[in-house]
Amino acid sequence: MKKLIVANWKMHFNPHETELFIHKLNKAEIASNIDVVLCPPFIDLQSAARAIDSKKYKLGAQNAHQVDEGTFTGEVSAAMLRGLVDYVIIGHSERRQNFHETDAIVANKLAAVIRNGLKPILCVGENLDERHNNLSEQVVLDQLHANLRNLSAEDMAGLVIAYEPIWALSDGHGNSTHAKPEDVDFVFAAIRRSVAEMYGEDISSHIRLLYGGSADPEHCGIYLGIDGIDGLLVGGASLIAPKFLDILEAAN
Ligand code: PEP
Repeated sequence: MKKLIVANWKMHFNPHETELFIHKLNKAEIASNIDVVLCPPFIDLQSAARAIDSKKYKLGAQNAHQVDEGTFTGEVSAAMLRGLVDYVIIGHSERRQNFHETDAIVANKLAAVIRNGLKPILCVGENLDERHNNLSEQVVLDQLHANLRNLSAEDMAGLVIAYEPIWALSDGHGNSTHAKPEDVDFVFAAIRRSVAEMYGEDISSHIRLLYGGSADPEHCGIYLGIDGIDGLLVGGASLIAPKFLDILEAAN
């Protein structure tokens, strides 16, 4: 399976900055054996779509509303993203924590993304307290069961799952915690096992499973080497072109 590297820009860059940044990325050679997805803020998607070299990069959104249209001031639906992006990040821990997205909402968002022909990148992960209480595996599997409950085997075809331990995410102020492979590899194994139990071995082995958490050029090789990992979700380091390109090089 091709490695998949996803850039989550979070709330950074305006449309002009997006264009300049993508022009820098376009200059790089991107190996054909990796897929790269850029997820700018909604407001930047149009300029990103104009600037992007679509032979090298695909676009994703960071969120989508679960209803296709209606009286939801300030929201953007998966239906509105059709034709503009290929992927949508759903259930990022920052949305679960700061915007009160419950597992039920995440399940409905996943269904909306799939209904609209887009590929969801479902984020799951435990917080520090849960980790200290040895609950990582249970929390992640509970999220998976609750989030995937509406999905048929057919719906699972394009699904990407990103395991992002919340305690390992960079905080945007230069503080990062780098998980060790042995801190996280048992959770990856549990995710694969659990998807196999729900949908069968074949589907489970075709799901792309990403790691997210302070991935940078110095540490990405370690994560990419974990058994069963198909790529990375990159936050902070995806905002600095040379760093992001170094990660792409490592994934190659
Ligand atoms: C993220 O929040 O999705 C993420 C991976 O962030 P970072 O790489 O900055 O930890």
